[in-house]
Amino acid sequence: MNVYISADIEGVAGIVGWSQATPGAEDYEIGRRLMTGEVNAAIAGAIAGGADRVVVNDSHSRMSNLIPDEVDSRARLILGQYKPMYMLQGLDGSFDAAFFVGYHGAIGEPEAILSHTYNPRAIWEVRVDGRVAGEIGINALVCEYFGVPIRLVTGDQSTAEEARVTVPGVHTAEVKRSFSRTSADSLSPEDSRAAIQHEAAAALDALPRLEPAARAVTLEITFLVADMAGMAEWIRGVERIRPRTVRFTAVDGLEVYRTFYAIVTLTRSLVE
Ligand SMILES: [Zn+2]
Repeated sequence: MNVYISADIEGVAGIVGWSQATPGAEDYEIGRRLMTGEVNAAIAGAIAGGADRVVVNDSHSRMSNLIPDEVDSRARLILGQYKPMYMLQGLDGSFDAAFFVGYHGAIGEPEAILSHTYNPRAIWEVRVDGRVAGEIGINALVCEYFGVPIRLVTGDQSTAEEARVTVPGVHTAEVKRSFSRTSADSLSPEDSRAAIQHEAAAALDALPRLEPAARAVTLEITFLVADMAGMAEWIRGVERIRPRTVRFTAVDGLEVYRTFYAIVTLTRSLVE
């Protein structure tokens, strides 16, 4: 059994601020250690649940947050920036289940720790086929394309809610309750890891068999400022439907994700 783990940091227990989540910031070393601990719990749970191959993709910021020699050596580790498939690098149809660990709520969620949808300095809202989506809803399109069921999502209560709406029946580990974007009531790291390990193992029971699905998907992105929508329109097939909003339709979830990632990368030049 093959398990794929996409690992973010904002939804990790004990993390409430960008100082813990931003490379180089004063509390970052604490944040990456906490992230590594939860990823190890997910790996241990996956193996206890029957996995014989686990691949972890570091999906946050510069994507080299996990401390390599502290990550459970039974897993393979994908690290580093400018990966063509970003938060889903390494995923393909050979996997039987996907876990999203340390995920967070969409930008616009009222009580969601460090909420954002890919780039908080560029993206105001994303809609998938008309419905507001965060990173779970967007990344799920790639899993659907490959026919890989998302079986576990961990993070705060808004993360768990988006997971349940996006993937009915998904296992969740709700490791903190956010009061705002920068405050939460968190499980201890120890309890959080125990919950994640337990849910990861349980998530591999009675795995659904999904067929790869190539259905057309329409994405709309509203940006913080109009210039960003103008820049996104440079990409063929992307149409500007309002001053700050673009829309495009792709033949399948993989193509939609590739175009979305190109737009995210392109508009970054206006904020960095
Ligand atoms: Zn992140």
